[in-house]
Amino acid sequence: MQKKIRREDALEYHAKGRPGKLEVVPTKEYNTQRDLSLAYSPGVAEPCLAIADNLEDVYKYTAKGNLVAVISNGTAVLGLGDIGPEAGKPVMEGKGLLFKIYADIDVFDIELNTKNVDEFVRTVKILEPTFGGVNLEDIKAPECFEIEERLKKELNIPIMHDDQHGTAIISGAALLNALELVGKKIEEVKIVVNGAGASAISCSKLYVALGANVENVVMCDSKGVIRADRTDLDERKSIFATSRDLHTLEEAFVGADVFIGLSKGNTVSQAMVKTMADNPIVFAMANPTPEISYEEAIEARPDIIMATGRSDYPNQVNNVLGFPYIFRGALDVRATEINEPMKLAAVRALAELAKKSVPDLVNMAYGTDNLMFSRTYIIPKPVDPRLLQTVAPAVAKAAMESGVAKNPITDWEAYEGQLAR
Ligand code: NAP
Ligand code: MG
Repeated sequence: MQKKIRREDALEYHAKGRPGKLEVVPTKEYNTQRDLSLAYSPGVAEPCLAIADNLEDVYKYTAKGNLVAVISNGTAVLGLGDIGPEAGKPVMEGKGLLFKIYADIDVFDIELNTKNVDEFVRTVKILEPTFGGVNLEDIKAPECFEIEERLKKELNIPIMHDDQHGTAIISGAALLNALELVGKKIEEVKIVVNGAGASAISCSKLYVALGANVENVVMCDSKGVIRADRTDLDERKSIFATSRDLHTLEEAFVGADVFIGLSKGNTVSQAMVKTMADNPIVFAMANPTPEISYEEAIEARPDIIMATGRSDYPNQVNNVLGFPYIFRGALDVRATEINEPMKLAAVRALAELAKKSVPDLVNMAYGTDNLMFSRTYIIPKPVDPRLLQTVAPAVAKAAMESGVAKNPITDWEAYEGQLAR
């Protein structure tokens, strides 16, 4: 089990040596006068002219194609809330670190001092020439929806708000596998979702895309069940409004097959979980405190499949299983967007990988020798080196098949070999 992180250790980690977690490193030789004349004036004029002549050459002569902007305004940082752009910077740098170590993608983290949607959109739009892709991060709802929707329309590079879609993709893979283990069909299961914010809406939409029946979804927000007769609903919540005679989360739980928690800690009781159908699937993903603790949930229901957002329990729904590889695949075919088929391909690739036998190195990292597809292992572990070779090609293929790849891969063997290095 992971040791508890102490405040002083975390602060020391970030402050030691050069403060922060990232630096910029040259990729070309720079030792001689000639090197410098190539890197900068006069030599640099040649790639400038080539790009001016043919814009796509920016991918050939600059770092654009491997450079992702992690952009936030600090309004919904982790579970900490609206702490501002500076205070969010450690998270954005951390995301940069993860992109680099898992998928060798370089990141500039960008913290914007604005809460204004138009200003945010305009800023990202004029940054487009610099980047191969944009990862929007930790922007509060409902602004995050409009920002992403508008940027997707206006930009010609892949863009994804990870808090919405990353969570949906990872939990979607976990859901498919959990359902397989208990022998239930996604089309038939009754799903209760607690929370109706950025992540809950996006997860529920993806589950519907995976086959769930929207009529079988009951969603709750801080005011209780989202019912068709409520007059305070926006268009996103309305998609999931139910006309069934249910008012409270407690009532919604009765007979449910699946519970999805993306709300607040300690909002679900053992008594509620006890009223669920056989072999209940409970994903209590509020961070850092889940809707119901792992111990309480498994005590209430020995037949449960339980996942949380925490690394110290089995089945951690962790976005790091997705974003590095989704962007890797998108960048490698120069996709113009991250579309639904690409997200669904990532879901299926993750779900399939969890069913394959686990390499020793992954077992060793978790101090075990017996990880295998089961109720306590429904999604791959973040240290699994096969994630890159599995998810990135699946996403790249889906981009090609859905017609958004500007630079299709022709030699898959060579590509997968390159990823394995
Ligand atoms: P968000 O956009 O702020 O949404 C929060 C939602 O929770 C809102 O719809 C809110 O209701 C609802 N809510 C608050 N208190 C509630 C209660 N007592 N009962 C029912 N609903 C309640 O936040 P988010 O980004 O979606 O994140 C939600 C939670 O999920 C956070 O704890 C976050 O850490 C966690 N999360 C985990 C993962 C992961 O495990 N990988 C990923 C993403 C998010 P109103 O609409 O009425 O305000
Ligand atoms: Mg986030």
